[in-house]
Amino acid sequence: MSEITIIGGGIAGLTCALGLQQQGVRVKLFEQAPRFEEVGAGLTLSQPASRGLFSLGLRAAIEAMADIPVRADVADYLTGMTLPAPDRVQESREKGDIPYFYQIHRADMHKILADAVLANDPDAITLGTRFEKFEQDADGVTASFEDGRQIHSTVLIGADGINSRVRDLLFGAQAPRFTGQVAYRFLVPYADVEPFMRAGPSVNSVGPGRHLLRYVLRHGTLVNGVAFVKTDSWTGEGWSTPADNAEMLEKFKDWNDDVKGLLRNAPPSGTRKWALFDRDPLPRWTIGRVTLMGDGAHPMLPFLGLGAAMGIEDAVVFARAWRETADRIKVLAIYEATRRDRANDVLLASRRQGEINQAPDSDNAKRYAATNQHLFDYDPTTTPLAMV
Ligand code: FAD
Repeated sequence: MSEITIIGGGIAGLTCALGLQQQGVRVKLFEQAPRFEEVGAGLTLSQPASRGLFSLGLRAAIEAMADIPVRADVADYLTGMTLPAPDRVQESREKGDIPYFYQIHRADMHKILADAVLANDPDAITLGTRFEKFEQDADGVTASFEDGRQIHSTVLIGADGINSRVRDLLFGAQAPRFTGQVAYRFLVPYADVEPFMRAGPSVNSVGPGRHLLRYVLRHGTLVNGVAFVKTDSWTGEGWSTPADNAEMLEKFKDWNDDVKGLLRNAPPSGTRKWALFDRDPLPRWTIGRVTLMGDGAHPMLPFLGLGAAMGIEDAVVFARAWRETADRIKVLAIYEATRRDRANDVLLASRRQGEINQAPDSDNAKRYAATNQHLFDYDPTTTPLAMV
């Protein structure tokens, strides 16, 4: 019997598997996808996420693949001028702190984690296996899969993303909420962007009902663009719906030339359209031996760049709670009590950040002065555990 069954091999599930393996725990992780493919685009690792990942020994691997922006600018949509906003990147550099952001391709981050888990135990990950249901009693929890397999363990973690089956079974099925936002994602080769876009600042261009984030990836060989558009007309789910560049450009036709120039250089067939969903905060994540983690517990809008970070923080705190007590039901209670308010606060703050980025008025300086800085000061490796 393995001690832990994890459902879902995304960033959260893999980080959790690694944190537990490093304590000698035997972990079994099940992923529905038949193989890990190169999906997604840029992912921001903010300081809380980096602190967590570095505590697992991944600093060198991340720094070999990630980019560090020289600044994080906010720009006006009409003029392209940089708005007065605190320069957190520079501040962290001056303090000698770890970088305020790393930018990494999701596929690279995912591979770093999967390789580390498999290096510890080549049998830890089972692909192509879709979780169906669980039953729990005083002795443990039994997970059943669509291929008929049954796995018994002391604890089960649902790290199975926004459409979490584990969550549905724990608390009843409810559809995710369409947030009225669509993202267009594209990667432009280095040679096709204006030289100043290769220089290294990440730029968030903000305007009424839209904003566009761009930053370099893979050591400046790519520029990652994500254009967010407020809409009520498209609610298809998924990460990989092909999008029409002309449609994307039309949404930004009144914007400054830098923005339009970048959009025009999006490769003809590479742009993907992605409807943004979240869910309302859950009042609890755990029943007995079964709990939720990452997007399974708190799927959120990407406007603070903290979605993946929340899953990483969850995983790091879970591994710390595991060390505290041999009572595994209590581990889950400590984990949830330590993490739930933080993750739910960030979920709601991510919604508010969309209103800030896309506000109809132009008082940007005032809005950006009231940032969510306190949310970025968190450290999952030292935050006090709630010893319930
Ligand atoms: P997820 O990353 O969603 O992982 C959940 C995993 O569980 C998935 O691999 C899924 O296949 C698996 N799963 C679901 N149901 C079952 C089941 N019944 N049985 C077995 N396995 C199951 N964020 C960005 O910022 N930029 C990106 O470019 C980006 N690209 C993404 C691409 C994809 C394909 C996905 C799934 C997510 C992407 N994200 C991206 C989101 C970001 O990775 C997540 O918001 C965040 O990392 C939370 O991760 P998670 O592990 O909780 O959930």
